This record gives sequence, C-alpha cells and structure tokens, in this order.
Amino acid sequence: MLYVACEGESTEPDYLDYLNDQFGDGGGQGRQSFRIQLVPRRDGRTPSGIVEAVRKVAGEDEAWALFDRDRWNDIPQAVKAAAESRVELAFSHPSFDLWLLLHFQMFGGAQSGSGKIVVEKLRQARGADAFKDYGRKGEKSIKGARRDALKGREGKAVAHARSLVASCAQGFCEPDRAKIGPVDLKAEPESPQAWAARSGHALECQVLQRDPSTDVWRLLATLGIDGRKPGKGAPAETETAPLIVDLS
Ligand SMILES: [Zn+2]
Repeated sequence: MLYVACEGESTEPDYLDYLNDQFGDGGGQGRQSFRIQLVPRRDGRTPSGIVEAVRKVAGEDEAWALFDRDRWNDIPQAVKAAAESRVELAFSHPSFDLWLLLHFQMFGGAQSGSGKIVVEKLRQARGADAFKDYGRKGEKSIKGARRDALKGREGKAVAHARSLVASCAQGFCEPDRAKIGPVDLKAEPESPQAWAARSGHALECQVLQRDPSTDVWRLLATLGIDGRKPGKGAPAETETAPLIVDLS
C-alpha cells in the first residue's frame, strides 16, 4: 500500500487510478501487486500542504507527494517537510504533463515554469491522437482512449525521464544514483538537499533549477513497472545523453 497525495483535480488522480487498474495486480510476471491510495484533495492545496496531508494518513506505509512547478512558491518548504517526514517526492518541472509527453517523445529545453509548450507538444505527438484536445476548456482527464494511448509506453517514458536527469544543466546529475524502493522510516532524518537528490540529481542541483524534469519515473520504478529487468542496471531503452567532461 502506497499513499499518494497530489494537487491535480483530474489528471494525476486519473493517472494513479490507471496505474492501479493496469498494474496493481502484479501482472503475474513476478512483479509484486500494489495499491495506490489517493489521499483526498482539498481546495487550495500547496506542495507543502500535500506533503503534510499524505504524511498524516500514511502511518507506517510509504508516502509520496506529487506536485509540479506551476505557480507555487513554497516548493523549498515542501522539500524540507518531505525530508523531515521521509515522504517521497515526485516533482515535475514544469508540469505533470511533461511525464505524459515523455510516453511519446523526448523533450528538452528549459521552460521557465510554463507548461504551455509541453501541452502543445503532447497534443501533436505521434501516437497521442487521444490527447489532441488535451487541456482545451480545462479538460485534462486521463480516461478511455488516453489511457490506451499510454499503455505499453511506460518503459519509454521512464527512459526519457532518466535521460533528462542525465542531461540536466547542473552537469553532475545521474539517474543511476536515484534511490528506488521502500523508504526506511526509522532512519535518521536527511537534509532537504540529500532528500531531493534521491531523484538522481546532484546534491547541488536546486529543485527549482531542474528544468525540465520529472521524478514520476521513480514511482514507477519503485512499483516495478519501469520496463527494466529486475537486477539489471540499464533500462530497457536507454537514451542517455553523452557525458561531457570539461577539462579546461
Ligand atoms: Zn539536476
């Protein structure tokens, strides 16, 4: 059982439902079954409010906070609160929509917090016909044909998200350093920097500078639905950016 709190009204809850329905039974391939319990949303929830809400209800179970860059300015506080209470972060910059887009294509280039271009790309992406009206009149559900369009592309999305870590502008971020798997709730508290580095980004890589990036892949990896073979270091599809070392 995993508790997840998020800010979105339909997109994120629909997506989490999809994960439960599609993968929750374990699929009979040696993957463990799981159940994501969505923490009910209240209006006006900020990232730090999301962290607090999920910690309250999760008890000894694993807790995740899902939020994006959007317009929020309390993200550093949210990271600090998450570190103190050992709530896993699934942060997307600029938006959760980036995670959806990565199912269909790679995406690069800083967006300065605006998710507009990401949505445009998603509407036009190959194989994403079901998303062609995504976000119009505020309609951002993930149901029916949109679910079907995502199906089977999770390994690709994970590979793309990992390669965004590898190509992060900070320069020393490395997806293989990401922490996957259950959190030890009894361990000593970690600094906000160390906690935010569970994503594979370097300690020095400020959360708000991770543009573009999404940690949602780490949730899938923790659930064993990341398209990677158990025990293997490399993802099924790797598109890692070349490592550039400046010796000057
Ligand atoms: Zn980074």
